[in-house]
Amino acid sequence: MSARRRPIIAIDGPAGAGKTTAARNIAERLSLVYLDTGATFRAVALKALRESIDMDDGEALAALAASSRIEFAGERFERILLDGEDVSEAIREQRVANASSRVAVHAELRAHLVELWRAIAKPGGVVLEGRDIGTVVFPDADIKFFLDARPGERAKRRFTEQAEKESVTLDRVTHDLEVRDESDRSRAHSPLRRAEDAIEINTTDLTPEQTLEKLLEAATERLN
Ligand code: C5P
Repeated sequence: MSARRRPIIAIDGPAGAGKTTAARNIAERLSLVYLDTGATFRAVALKALRESIDMDDGEALAALAASSRIEFAGERFERILLDGEDVSEAIREQRVANASSRVAVHAELRAHLVELWRAIAKPGGVVLEGRDIGTVVFPDADIKFFLDARPGERAKRRFTEQAEKESVTLDRVTHDLEVRDESDRSRAHSPLRRAEDAIEINTTDLTPEQTLEKLLEAATERLN
């Protein structure tokens, strides 16, 4: 355990692996804040869609992010504000999810957002959820987790979530998830991969409570 007074916990993994629920649950149990780094890509993607910015233009996207106010709000940072507007629900639309992994390939935009996350998380006491937290953003995090699950199970979870919000089919969600996974794993900058020292948890057959127990077990061991 590092000399940092309050811990930094990294949770990485593909979409639908259970990161958000796990990160929120462990943050709550350990009285930490929770930083959903994917939400910042989604916020930039939402604004780019609204302003018809070219998703392949990294410089334009980085400039868009730099001229925007992206903030977290709520007791555990569970809400995200874009230029003062609460976009926590709007960023969950399927079209925004798809656009978020397109904007996430650009190094210029990533550099800007990584700076934002580091500034927020620097004092510690934070659970960060994303794709590159343990590998790039905080390679010296106190604990690193890599959550994964069978692709079919991840798609099913995402479908159940999305179907509550908009009209989608399991086929569509499965296809979009595959495209996003492929892009996240194969991109040149900060691709999704497990840090060597990350604890891997396969959540396919675990309930959220069982996943939380596993995280807490490791956290108690590492942080004490
Ligand atoms: O986690 P979530 O699915 O909301 O993230 C949306 C997208 O943002 C991901 O598909 C990924 O492309 C990107 N992302 C990333 N690095 C992070 C977090 C998210 O590239 N640390």
